Amino acid sequence: MNKFFVCYRRDDTGDYAGRIADLLRRELGQDRVFIDVDSIRVGTHWPAALRTALDDAIGVIVVIGPSWLTVERNGRPRLTFEDDWVRTEIRGALAAGKQILPIVKTAAMMPTADDLPEDIRGLAALQALEVRAEQFSGDAAALIEWARQLTTPTLPPPAPEAKHPAFSSRLSHIVLPTLVLAACAAALQWANCGQKPPAPPLPPNSPDAAPPEVVQSGPIELAGKTDCVSNATLLTTFIDVGFGDATLFQLGDLDVLIDAGPGSPEAKADIAQLIHSPLEYLFITHPHQDHFRGARELLNKTHISAAFWNGDPSQSMAWRQLQQALSEADLPLEKLPQGEVIDLAPGFRMEVLSTADDVDGSVNDKSLVQLLEYCGVRILMTGDIEEAGQKRLLQRQCSTAACPALKADVLKFPHHGSERILEPFLDAVKPTYATISAGPFSRFGIPGAKTVHALEVRGIQIRSTSGDDQRNIELRIKGGTQTGFLYYDRETRTWKRYAR
Ligand SMILES: [Zn+2]
Repeated sequence: MNKFFVCYRRDDTGDYAGRIADLLRRELGQDRVFIDVDSIRVGTHWPAALRTALDDAIGVIVVIGPSWLTVERNGRPRLTFEDDWVRTEIRGALAAGKQILPIVKTAAMMPTADDLPEDIRGLAALQALEVRAEQFSGDAAALIEWARQLTTPTLPPPAPEAKHPAFSSRLSHIVLPTLVLAACAAALQWANCGQKPPAPPLPPNSPDAAPPEVVQSGPIELAGKTDCVSNATLLTTFIDVGFGDATLFQLGDLDVLIDAGPGSPEAKADIAQLIHSPLEYLFITHPHQDHFRGARELLNKTHISAAFWNGDPSQSMAWRQLQQALSEADLPLEKLPQGEVIDLAPGFRMEVLSTADDVDGSVNDKSLVQLLEYCGVRILMTGDIEEAGQKRLLQRQCSTAACPALKADVLKFPHHGSERILEPFLDAVKPTYATISAGPFSRFGIPGAKTVHALEVRGIQIRSTSGDDQRNIELRIKGGTQTGFLYYDRETRTWKRYAR
């Protein structure tokens, strides 16, 4: 007992898994780690050796790289074979109730239950830790803490430099596993968002851990600013889908959705129930599951007329499943080019400010950025862009700090209220309101304290979905008072009234 079993795919994370094994050996002792390459002697019966090692393991580390799900054998993903070694090891570990820690490498994603065969679906429910290859020792500190906790009290205390900032030596061994899991939970979610995890969350119940107070003061009501051709009210609902994004725009019998949330069971609100008419437009800002996974459910419940995305391909199984479902519904997923303008309805238009082609950065940075304008009131939808995406927008759209091209009345705050926000970006957008789709309170340390502070010092009012109850944010924009016959002016690409 007291050994750690490293489960990995050689074609996916061979060297990286070896690095993890080396680190654990260095920290815990040479004989405390089992990894098949080094640990099985020549001539040993391979399956028996693996079984014995698994039985002896106190903890199992499942190393997941970018092609973990897709490495093939005879033209099929290996994971689909019942005798696949990785699948066999995970099945055994789950059945034996072993402590399992999934480690997600840079550019990989934690698989969802849909991605996995029935017998190892339990893996998807486990909290993972993202360990970036380029920041290995810093990120792997939480792994060492996890391993030490399982072997305490026989191991020496951690070296100061390996200590994870989230874990305090004054914490009891009863509390610590909870904290490790909390840190891993955050890492899992941020891994799903395809970016490095934020600073690990502080311990729950610590006075410092309380999420910043986000004032909720009901719906946002705004009046159209221009002599608008429409007299209807645009209702925008930032739907509380837990940790994810889904924003519904409704004007008369037009329904438009940007992102579809993570779907059940995470989503607290049923998007389909809020949609009154066939969904005219579905936009997916980027192929991360907290933004698109709900689209598959939606396809079963609602008619969707047109679907667009940012053009960033993804190899994840969930994304391929969505593409399959769209194709079965005979609904092509179209790539939106930068600069595209869609007149959604009279007085209501959408302009694409950025797509995947425009940014060298993470999957998040490649998110669609869309400016929606109704009767002169502007809403900036930013997906999950981080610093690189914000910087690119500033470079392209702004010649001065004031930057009228980015100015908006309402900012859908990037990336769920993450602290990865550039202050010049906030100053350029200069919104009156910022909405944050953050999910449950105190779960991932978002919205970040720095975010809330940056908004508050600028006098920007905050609305957030964060909280344990269901909290959709509603924004109503009243149109003008003008009515009459309208026509579409192709030259100016706007709706106009016939002059009397
Ligand atoms: Zn996201």
